[in-house]
Amino acid sequence: MYAEYSSEEFEKKYTYHGKDLGAIWSPEKTDFRLWAPTAQNVQICFYHSGTAGENDLIRRLSMTPDQQGTWIATAEGDLNGIYYNYLVDVNGSTVEACDPYAVAVGVNGNRAMVCNLKSTDPEGWEQDRPPVISDNYTDYVIYELHVRDLSSLASSGITNRGKFLGLAETGTSLKSGEPTGLSHIKELGVTHIHLLPVFDYGSVDEAHPGKEYNWGYDPVNFNVPEGSYSTDPFDGFTRVREMKQMVHTLHQNGLGVILDVVYNHVYHTFEFSMNQIVPGYFSRENGDGVLSNGSCCGNDTASERAMVRKYIVDSVNYWADEYNVDGFRFDLVGLLDVETIQQIISTVREKHPHVMFYGEGWNLTTQVTKPDTALAVQQNAWMLPEFAFFNDTIRDTIRGSVFDYHLPGYVSDGWVSKEHLLRCFQGRMDWSCKPNQIVNYVSCHDNHTLHDRIAEALPQAKEEELARRSRLAAAFTLLSTGIPFFQAGEEMLRTKKSSTGKYVGNSYRSCDRINGIKWNRLKEAEVKKTVRYYQGLLRLRKKHSLFRMADADQVSRCITLMKDTPEELAVFKLQNEFETILVAFNPSTHPVPFSLPEGKWQVFVERDRADDSVLYEISGEAEIAAISAFVAILMK
Ligand code: CA
Repeated sequence: MYAEYSSEEFEKKYTYHGKDLGAIWSPEKTDFRLWAPTAQNVQICFYHSGTAGENDLIRRLSMTPDQQGTWIATAEGDLNGIYYNYLVDVNGSTVEACDPYAVAVGVNGNRAMVCNLKSTDPEGWEQDRPPVISDNYTDYVIYELHVRDLSSLASSGITNRGKFLGLAETGTSLKSGEPTGLSHIKELGVTHIHLLPVFDYGSVDEAHPGKEYNWGYDPVNFNVPEGSYSTDPFDGFTRVREMKQMVHTLHQNGLGVILDVVYNHVYHTFEFSMNQIVPGYFSRENGDGVLSNGSCCGNDTASERAMVRKYIVDSVNYWADEYNVDGFRFDLVGLLDVETIQQIISTVREKHPHVMFYGEGWNLTTQVTKPDTALAVQQNAWMLPEFAFFNDTIRDTIRGSVFDYHLPGYVSDGWVSKEHLLRCFQGRMDWSCKPNQIVNYVSCHDNHTLHDRIAEALPQAKEEELARRSRLAAAFTLLSTGIPFFQAGEEMLRTKKSSTGKYVGNSYRSCDRINGIKWNRLKEAEVKKTVRYYQGLLRLRKKHSLFRMADADQVSRCITLMKDTPEELAVFKLQNEFETILVAFNPSTHPVPFSLPEGKWQVFVERDRADDSVLYEISGEAEIAAISAFVAILMK
């Protein structure tokens, strides 16, 4: 029934290209422009507060139809901090909707707020610069974090628990001295913090944020920070100011910020503002009124429609421009079309050439509304050379399948051919063109943590063995070609155990006790060792460009599988004109003797130790310890 939205005729008549949608504030007046091509009448309602249901209307202002289906109005005077909604007559009814282009909102995102954005800039914002810049994504290391998890538990020692500002606190530690929060992350050696959704989502009541927990994959207002992470969700300025403060502090501490953006669906299909204002326009349906649901969240975004595409492109640009964000992770990007992603990358890169892009390119069933729409799935990676995709092959190979979580992976004693391991280590997938397109990982927020996944496969294994197997997985992932990525706390053997002792595989709405980072575990011996191991691996990766190659041909030339090595071992040789590195993996439960090639070797990784400085020198016979990685570099 909404097929006409995707027709050429509709798009020709109603595609608006201007940059002034939303409320543009100045001290003298505020200009409003709304795209509502099928509306019969539109008014703006101004309110004192941002709380829906409050009977505090200031006045109404009629809008005038203007070009390409837009409506305009100007309100005289300084409206900074005034809340507003649109009252739209459409299809025979009158709806009150938030502004899809709102940049600030009241509690729970029900009313938009006119905002002088400049007034939300933290001190020093004009000097804010991207902290990490490289031509190659392979130089980056990504740490995936939920804002609230970092500081929800008291052991974090963080004051602003569960808030944006909690991530901006430095110098926090356990009473025994181990750094927590931002200070811990800084010492780890990652380059970017990837934040789970921080746009305004709907599943947590901002008025009582302690009551519920959610990952936040349920978008309400795409261009506004989530209120439950602010210290005052009722005040429209606070969340904006505090999120900027967080970004600025992370930048000052040398860390880039990546946002997890969820444009593929919305929280409530018909309550989403654009779907209220232009009924059903934002979402795909099959022509018979049945919504497409490849997202499994009730609806799929019709990114192929001109004004949806513009909305997404504008939104990503807004976060890059206004919040100085350094990258974007696209949730279920396989539901969005290639053209939209191409436009996002080219427009953002004009102003911010360092910004990185990646996403989940899974192939899902969705009902696109225009013929010949190419979707941003792994198989179409060649159309998106500057876009990286999560590498599910290395994930399932090393840790084991996400679908049958009792099956062992390579690090839990599963058999994998050495040729397949080589392809994983080289970051060479059938669908990828270059290592910059490969995000290597063995844990993220979805499914079990790495520790728990190994424990599911090996229920008899003791903690010490689980720790060794986790470190082996880390060595493989962090030294492989591509972009290393891991879930916050993986380096602390993160576990999500329920009160009945079960490992929780999908904790999207579990409590803080399950999801929160358990900083007091930093006192445990195996956790300490593992944190140091990750730090050492990342320093080693940073120091040697052979681990960070970005050219696919160079990788094929420089990384080879050593033949005639013991059956238990996979040994890779990394060699260029400057150095020769041996990387060996032994997932077996016994030590394996290994004859080193001729020459004297310096060892950097062995047993539970990893470093960028030499642990010891060796030649001739080496022994690769049970369940461990081994890295040695040939002395000149
Ligand atoms: Ca919210």
